[in-house]
Amino acid sequence: MANQYAVIGLGRFGLSIANKLFESGQEVLGVDINEERVDESHPFVTHSVIADSTDQEALKSIGIRNFDTVIVAIGNDIQASILSTLLLKELGVKKVIAKALNKLHGQVLKKVGADWVVFPERDMGIRVAHQLLSPNVLNFIELSKDYSVEEVRIPDQMTNNTLRELDLRAKFNLSVIAIRHKHEIDISPSPDKIIEIGDVLVVIGDNKNLESFANLDSKV
Ligand code: ATP
Repeated sequence: MANQYAVIGLGRFGLSIANKLFESGQEVLGVDINEERVDESHPFVTHSVIADSTDQEALKSIGIRNFDTVIVAIGNDIQASILSTLLLKELGVKKVIAKALNKLHGQVLKKVGADWVVFPERDMGIRVAHQLLSPNVLNFIELSKDYSVEEVRIPDQMTNNTLRELDLRAKFNLSVIAIRHKHEIDISPSPDKIIEIGDVLVVIGDNKNLESFANLDSKV
């Protein structure tokens, strides 16, 4: 069954969340104070309404309590973002995700009850820098301060070897959890699997070891 989401603030950030959820078959209500934004959002959401999310009555009248998750995608108007988050939690919305512009904004959003605070500019900046430092890393998830899962493009020099021959566990203390070959993903690769040109390894391990492996290209 589809989940019900509401996205408050239909700027670039809010609309891209709304659109992705909608494309994935979820029910998405778009909310914005600005009529033009609401009109423009029609192709990308299930419904959209004009409302001021800092107005408790307006939130009640759109039945905001009935949504499983509400995303507060207002950024520049920090006061509106904080007040909306507070009201949503007070009205009993279970999961409120809010966008923060900076650290202090994020701390306040947490204090007023946001269940998850996202920092899109900061996080994208980190991603871009990461990609520049390790061009072979296509994607990564930080599991903790020290450990990550990374998708690493295999250096050409290492191809035509089996996983056993590469022996990343002994050499780098890394575990290969999947291999992406063209559009297929092998989620429990056998040690005898031959790694081909263009393959991407999904590896888990310590950040330092991941970095040594991902930057191996020129040294092999
Ligand atoms: P983005 O960076 O996502 O493109 P933006 O640059 O348009 O957004 P923001 O200030 O983050 O600027 O606003 C996002 C949206 O939130 C805007 O469309 C704005 O009309 C809407 N918005 C601002 N305040 C409220 C409010 N109180 N209630 C509902 N929507 C609001």
